[in-house]
Amino acid sequence: AVKEKTTVRLVFLGAAGVGKTALIQRFLQDRFEHKYKRTVEELHSIEYDIDGTKIRIEIMDTSGSYAFPAMRKLCIRNSDAFALVYSIDDPESFEEVQRLREEILELRDEKLVPITVVGNKADLENQRLVATSEIMSTVELDWNASFVEASAKSSDNVMGVFKELLQQVNLPSRLS
Ligand code: GDP
Repeated sequence: AVKEKTTVRLVFLGAAGVGKTALIQRFLQDRFEHKYKRTVEELHSIEYDIDGTKIRIEIMDTSGSYAFPAMRKLCIRNSDAFALVYSIDDPESFEEVQRLREEILELRDEKLVPITVVGNKADLENQRLVATSEIMSTVELDWNASFVEASAKSSDNVMGVFKELLQQVNLPSRLS
């Protein structure tokens, strides 16, 4: 029998306009254009090769689905890892990340939910209103989650976002 491919589900959440779609598009277009398939409006599906093992990555872009809380809940329940995105020029967008984390923790009863907090628009350094060190300590020490800054615009560290997410999924144990 053909072994079913391992599927990893990633969900991007965050306030409108922080760059969720831009981060996902940057990742897909830089690396995977040829194998890319748009399944439904906001669900992206790609094949990814890790040390010779093919996995399928499904990326849910929630940018348009805030009108559908039931759908958001469903995708939170089914996700393998979460990217919670804010923008470094917008402190309110980090407050939204805090709210989203609480929503996720309510819906999932694992001890350690795989969350990567992403400070996007790192290219806007001269408009920065959210300090790196503060967020890093909240996310890494208080939440025991991952933190990265990135820029979908300059493409700086976009791969780092996905590396963190895939690392949190703990692929080696899922592949064996
Ligand atoms: P979403 O609502 O979270 O999906 O946000 P979008 O991806 O639609 O981006 C919202 C706006 O922010 C758009 O005008 C993007 O061009 C812009 N944007 C996204 N990422 C970046 C970034 O890294 N740097 C800058 N300067 N602008 C960005």
